[in-house]
Amino acid sequence: MSVAPSPTIVLGDRFARELGEMALPWQAEEAPDPRLLVLNEPLATELGLDPAALRTPDGLRLLVGTLVPEGATPVAQAYSGHQFGSFNPRLGDGRALLLGELPGAEGALRDLHLKGSGRTPFARGGDGLAAVGPMLREYVISEAMHALGIPTTRSLAVVATGRAVRRETLLPGAVLARVASSHLRVGSFQYARATGDVDLLRRLADHAIDRHHPGAAGAENRYLALYDAVVAAQASLVAQWMLVGFVHGVMNTDNTTISGETIDYGPCAFLDAYDPATVYSSIDAGGRYAYGNQPVVAEWNLARLAEALLPLFDDDQEQAVAVAVESLRGFAPRYEAAWTAGVRAKLGLPEGLDDAVVRALAEDLFVLLRQDHVDLTSVFRALGGAARGDVEPVRLLFLDLAGIDGWLERWRALAPDAAGMDRANPVYIPRNHLVEEALDAATEGDLAPLGQLLEAVTAPFDARPGLDRYAAPAPQDFGAYRTFCGT
Ligand code: AMP
Ligand code: MG
Repeated sequence: MSVAPSPTIVLGDRFARELGEMALPWQAEEAPDPRLLVLNEPLATELGLDPAALRTPDGLRLLVGTLVPEGATPVAQAYSGHQFGSFNPRLGDGRALLLGELPGAEGALRDLHLKGSGRTPFARGGDGLAAVGPMLREYVISEAMHALGIPTTRSLAVVATGRAVRRETLLPGAVLARVASSHLRVGSFQYARATGDVDLLRRLADHAIDRHHPGAAGAENRYLALYDAVVAAQASLVAQWMLVGFVHGVMNTDNTTISGETIDYGPCAFLDAYDPATVYSSIDAGGRYAYGNQPVVAEWNLARLAEALLPLFDDDQEQAVAVAVESLRGFAPRYEAAWTAGVRAKLGLPEGLDDAVVRALAEDLFVLLRQDHVDLTSVFRALGGAARGDVEPVRLLFLDLAGIDGWLERWRALAPDAAGMDRANPVYIPRNHLVEEALDAATEGDLAPLGQLLEAVTAPFDARPGLDRYAAPAPQDFGAYRTFCGT
């Protein structure tokens, strides 16, 4: 560990200062041989960091946490969480560090955070490390989500450490540098509440209001307004996941943000064939976090947030519960509204068309998709062509031709806007077989497939020549896909 003056990076320590009870000063483990695997130059520039400086030996040491800029206070954050429904009062950053905050656009702070930087006092049985494959997986999928316009943490870099990580086999280790509007989670509030220190809970809520939902500050009941804002942000976020076929895979309360950004890309994956029962995670045997359950799980997680915030809502416990229940009732209509707006755009339907008509048409389509195991991304993109008169690519995806023909006739009678559909329906998503291929190659030292995949998924709406295989569903022999958590 060394501390060096850094002219290029000044990190704030606002979280550590304001919420010291939840911030444990800690340091990264040495990385024997740091080697840059991928650097997000546009993001670096957006953050005011010089990409060339990040590529130098000192830059790499910064990205693995072994060189700490002067004045910075890296901390492991404490949080609790419901994991698969069971409360764990003490989770926290077991293998991660918050390096500090960078000033973002319009004064909002952005956390610079490392994952895979070594054991912390929250590591429990874990080794504190991360393997190259899963860190690159978070990089690819979070950057794809960002390009799809879905709120998410971002990925700045993945640096191989030169240290082997023991999983089922020995794998090369890596550190992911990620950027988030904060790392405040539902589990952060559960932690503060569990300490019994209402002053800490209030400081945490004030911190969250200031960073994420400043509109709440002027409300009559600012903490209830904060809660309302989180309910709204999560309802909108999960609607966007559903529309694009994203399955988070581990929607524990510690992986649910206060900002409304997607966080913690572990066993996540995108749907191929449309089926609400789809589960990819190897540890989700009961299907708690299946694709179709995600809205209900988000609502459940928000109920846990309400429980944590109760002492701030009202001194009278009954009254506090009553206002929380009322606010949470807003989740379903907000989710519906966000989903309907999204599916309206995906189907190219005009603003003036009644919500109920849009929903009925969409729901009838989803029945056909499920029945015929149709690839979600392919069919919506092909519908753009159908709006221009070329219906055959859509029909080819279905077995029930009478069903889809009848649906197409109803839909085309509404004069869908093909150009708008092309901006709402991606051609390229990080398809599971392509992600696996790129990560396997990278683990073996070949970064070319990763580069090509990133090129496709970071401009997902523009069909480009030479990228056909990035638009196609998995080959038949790819089989049932499984992802592994936290590895
Ligand atoms: P996740 O499921 O990745 O959100 O992680 C849940 C909890 O386990 C968090 O407290 C993580 O910091 C911790 N964790 C996951 N993997 C490791 C590891 N290899 N070493 C230490 N802690 C870990
Ligand atoms: Mg997590």
